[in-house]
Amino acid sequence: MRSNNLQFENLKAKLSSVRRSAWKPIVREGDGDLTASKFSGKPWLSAGETWPICPNCQKPMQLFLQLNLDQLPKSLKEKFGNGILQMFYCTSTEPYCEGDCDAGESAKIKLLRIVQPEAKSAKIEIPEIENLFPAKLIIRWEEIGDSPSWEDVESFFGITPNEENLDILDNYFGWRPEPGDKLAGWPDWIQGSSYPNCPTCNQTMTQFIFQLDSEDNITYMWGDAGRGYLVQCPEHKEKLAFFWQCH
Ligand SMILES: [Zn+2]
Ligand SMILES: [Zn+2]
Repeated sequence: MRSNNLQFENLKAKLSSVRRSAWKPIVREGDGDLTASKFSGKPWLSAGETWPICPNCQKPMQLFLQLNLDQLPKSLKEKFGNGILQMFYCTSTEPYCEGDCDAGESAKIKLLRIVQPEAKSAKIEIPEIENLFPAKLIIRWEEIGDSPSWEDVESFFGITPNEENLDILDNYFGWRPEPGDKLAGWPDWIQGSSYPNCPTCNQTMTQFIFQLDSEDNITYMWGDAGRGYLVQCPEHKEKLAFFWQCH
């Protein structure tokens, strides 16, 4: 028991610094300003710009997520850059764009970008989209404590899990990342840690921005109850990647 206690204390001390804050989006039904953080609804588009089209089927993509980076919780200000982050993704079933492409970063059926809403915005009409998601406005962020998965503990902190320390942490902390939609924190991996490389500097894109779960705020299923991950290069904030994993 004594050595167990000692190990527990050592491990607890080592891992106390790896917890991060994450934020759950609190939403209300309906849309808000063009520049607001939201799921679905009307995105901010610059004057003269048309709604983003899927290169695979030529149909309009859906707005999954828009984050106003200047209106995030204080401790995240500047972290992901400035402006408005947008994620569009094609949900066409005929043709089945997601099935035609793969789940990884190479899929071309999405648009990830950060825009600067400086000039005038376009007059926006939502085009005809099959199974259009209802708009949900993010009205505030609820802060929670978040823990890394063991794969991330190992790769970020060099602590190799063994039966004993896994047991200790599971029993005492319920050590795991939060599932569901969340801003920042740690990814709740389904198939293990897999940050893609930045196309500019080739470093791993470890800046975790958002977890988009199946059937949470967006009524969409990633594969078989999968989970989507939006990440960024810590150096090149315009380099964003989105990919999903499922069982
Ligand atoms: Zn498409
Ligand atoms: Zn980079």
